[in-house]
Amino acid sequence: MRITVEELELHPMVVSLTYTAGTLDYHGAAFRQAAPLKVDAVAELAGSEIHIRGRVGTSLEACCDRCLVSVAIPVGRDFDLFYRPLSTIARTEEVELPEDELDVGFFSGNGIELSDVVTEQVILAMPMKVVCRTDCRGLCPVCGTNLNLEKCSCLPTPENSPFSFLKKG
Ligand SMILES: [Zn+2]
Ligand SMILES: [Zn+2]
Repeated sequence: MRITVEELELHPMVVSLTYTAGTLDYHGAAFRQAAPLKVDAVAELAGSEIHIRGRVGTSLEACCDRCLVSVAIPVGRDFDLFYRPLSTIARTEEVELPEDELDVGFFSGNGIELSDVVTEQVILAMPMKVVCRTDCRGLCPVCGTNLNLEKCSCLPTPENSPFSFLKKG
């Protein structure tokens, strides 16, 4: 749904929506939405800016960086954001934004798409590294055995040691 300045001029908008898995586009991110995504938000005008705050909640699924098993990642994230009309950039382009305004976003046209706000929050909520457990042993680099589940008889060699790059040059 679109949150428009025209509508906010009349009244703040209270939004409570659920996006089922597969309906949001995460721009090729390396995870998938594994449960319905719930968003509750309030949008209002703050001068010429759109102020939107609320919470997104869902569950994601991604592959462990080390052993590739699927890992469930619960997401619950509060947000409090300001979007400034893009048309104001031209006028303020030579003015540096004060430090505390760096997370101000911009919108073009008559408003913002709620789905854009939501997908951005979910992408920000993803951890940088996904591991199934902190002591995950990963896959054997030679035979691909999941070393959490079984042992293999491969011996680490200089070529496949994760530290082999240290010896090069
Ligand atoms: Zn793992
Ligand atoms: Zn092996």
